[in-house]
Amino acid sequence: MKHNIDDTVFSVINAIPNPVIVISNDKLQSVNNAFLNFFSITSIEEFNNLHTSIANLFIKNNGFFTLSDVDNDEFWTDYLFSRPEASRIVSIIDSHNNLRDFEMTLKKIEHASEYIVVFNDITTYISEKNEYEYFAYHDHLTKIYNRQKFDELFLKEFESIKRYKDNFSVILIDLDKFKIVNDTFGHLVGDLVLVAVVGIITKELRVNDIFARWGGEEFIILLPRTDINGAYIKAQELRQSIESYVNKELPPITISAGVTQVNNSDSINSCLKRVDDALYQAKEKRNDVVKLV
Ligand code: GH3
Ligand code: MG
Ligand code: MG
Repeated sequence: MKHNIDDTVFSVINAIPNPVIVISNDKLQSVNNAFLNFFSITSIEEFNNLHTSIANLFIKNNGFFTLSDVDNDEFWTDYLFSRPEASRIVSIIDSHNNLRDFEMTLKKIEHASEYIVVFNDITTYISEKNEYEYFAYHDHLTKIYNRQKFDELFLKEFESIKRYKDNFSVILIDLDKFKIVNDTFGHLVGDLVLVAVVGIITKELRVNDIFARWGGEEFIILLPRTDINGAYIKAQELRQSIESYVNKELPPITISAGVTQVNNSDSINSCLKRVDDALYQAKEKRNDVVKLV
């Protein structure tokens, strides 16, 4: 294969375990064994028969680089070379149909149009980073929003209702005698009960409702454009669904709920205090819903 790097250099490149290509004006000049193995092919010719450009294989994912970022009259290598290193990340599907993420290192060969591109596999790093970001806002056990995300969303919603004078209600839920579930069946079964309860509630909410884990066995729901009567009906429906839920692997459980509506003189704290008081009153009977205006 003719290219501007000598054969000794290329045999070194061939020993690199990551895919490496030498590319000129979007045409592959040389590729190493790792590249051929990645696509389960034996030659560049085989690759070229299947694809017009390696860049066509960069899949849209996570906002990573794809060919659509580049103007038609520019080579993607030139484009990326002029961009910060952090933007040189792509996703490619390998011959086993696995999506892999790569950070590319581009080296321009002096006085030539060729680039050496090394594909460093960062799939594990990316998935860990995504998971880390995901769990900054989601509860580990139930996967709904955590308290931190709830606070952020409530503040945003609260400001917008004050501006637009929309109805807006809150339901605070606490599982009844949940300590007994843990003490009788163990913490693991307790965890499964929490997940099941979240599943039941999620199914009955609207897309705009905001559902979060408030703490241990307490959950909170924000219902935009819903007045206290609508929220009360919803809370009763949730209470009944959970009461009538049957799963032979799990003990039966009930919930109590407090309901309130944000009013003109409310602050976030006064509203939360009121819904907490409502829940406290519901706890007098348990398996009950109380609304407070
Ligand atoms: P009440 O009807 O008055 O609400 O009684 P309760 O037993 O539910 O109330 P209490 O606050 O005494 O107990 C809450 C229990 O929830 C205690 C705690 O161990 C349990 N809990 C909190 N978070 C978790 C969790 O993530 N998993 C499990 N399995 N249990 C949890
Ligand atoms: Mg509690
Ligand atoms: Mg409880």
